[in-house]
Amino acid sequence: MSLDHPFFDELWMAVRHGDVDSIKQLSYYLRHNPEVIDSPEDYQRKLRDNLSYLRRRSRPRYLRVRPFVEQLATLGIPEKTAKQEPSETEQALSRLEKLKVLKKTRYVIFLGAGASKPKPSSIPTVAELLPELWARAEKLETRPLDKLQTWCTNAEITNIEDLLTALTISNMVVKKPKIHSLFNSILYTSKDGMPTEDIRDRDTINSLQESTGNFFSLLVGTMLDAKPNTIHKSTVDAAASLPHVRVVTTNYDACLEQAFDAKDIAYSYIIDKKPSNALSLVKMHGSINWYYCDVCQHIMMPDIEKMKSARENKVPYPLLGMCTKCRSTAKQFIVPPTNYKYVLYPPIVEVWDACRTAFDEGDIIIIVGYSFGDADDYIAKMLLKSISEHPDKKVIICDTDKRVVKRFKQALARHVSDFSEENYFPLIGKAEDLYVRALEFLTSSTSSTAKKGAGAKKTTSKRNTGPSGRKVRKKRAR
Ligand SMILES: [Zn+2]
Repeated sequence: MSLDHPFFDELWMAVRHGDVDSIKQLSYYLRHNPEVIDSPEDYQRKLRDNLSYLRRRSRPRYLRVRPFVEQLATLGIPEKTAKQEPSETEQALSRLEKLKVLKKTRYVIFLGAGASKPKPSSIPTVAELLPELWARAEKLETRPLDKLQTWCTNAEITNIEDLLTALTISNMVVKKPKIHSLFNSILYTSKDGMPTEDIRDRDTINSLQESTGNFFSLLVGTMLDAKPNTIHKSTVDAAASLPHVRVVTTNYDACLEQAFDAKDIAYSYIIDKKPSNALSLVKMHGSINWYYCDVCQHIMMPDIEKMKSARENKVPYPLLGMCTKCRSTAKQFIVPPTNYKYVLYPPIVEVWDACRTAFDEGDIIIIVGYSFGDADDYIAKMLLKSISEHPDKKVIICDTDKRVVKRFKQALARHVSDFSEENYFPLIGKAEDLYVRALEFLTSSTSSTAKKGAGAKKTTSKRNTGPSGRKVRKKRAR
């Protein structure tokens, strides 16, 4: 029915005169036959024009009629455009809800620094670490990092990654005089361009690196007190209900471990050689409860609860320990954010391999609070390589910063030739809300497919899943 049909003439007149009864009668018909509006835009425009005519003529009648006309204005328009276009995040969530998952679907949950930031964990991000480092160093009378701090402030260095990288390189350079002169000839074009100040001696740089490193380690040690938040707990719940989950994290804190312990779920750090039925917890940058002996390459992992109770008894967090094998000094095994991670801790390579395998074998990769920083460039490379080799992988990325999500999508589109938007699920906002919802969808659709498939082929779960499907008896390896 076109808009010049007498029916519409009646409607326009009713609006112009503010005739509520006629509007009600006419709108009854329209509500039940909205398809008669064959040109929704013209229809809306005419409604608005007639309503403004009434507003000019009589404000009281206009005010009385307006709500009815507003209702009328939503008719005839396809639902998508009538409502506001749902956001990218909402679209991603609704696509996730419909995602087909199977019992054999393999998941990788990758937690970055953003995952340990929400309360009650409240762990500072890399950007917040440098000011904390200065604050700690300033508390001491000798103020060992005074000069370094002044220099960083003047040079506007606010990033702990840059500082630690500079210290690592400097130390490597001063250890080898030949490399030092080569460095100078590469960096400076002429003799005049050379720095006027004398190069610091090896001991100074060594001690600067050492004290910065120690302060950083102490700073990390305070993370021992951090409690797991909703993100950690939901990760553990998902790991307990989904058949194949690997958890990878760049965080040093022990929040995930505490959440696992609370649910009595066994986990393995890969390098601890625990039984294979334990759930993989891949800690890319080490952990506050790991210690490494440089002499015999032995790795020690003291019990977190024992470390915590020692702290409650005012025993400070130990940066060093004694190797239980060769009695040499073992140092804290956390990989500081520098570009030279593997140089410092060779065994970390085995952990990285586990991450690569997880990416390669995972069907659904969920990334939470990870900013793809420069110093962790290699993680993004591994991830992109896995996806480009298996472009059907689904990638869910959750971050409060929409730039991170956009940047990652651009990287995907650039590196993955068969990249499809359908496989990409951007969730921009609080992980405590979005990530948790995404996990709920995935676990509930997995259990519903499991129910449908009951009586059919029995899938063998690698883990020792109890009758409730939730708890696994914990096996303490040491
Ligand atoms: Zn040793």
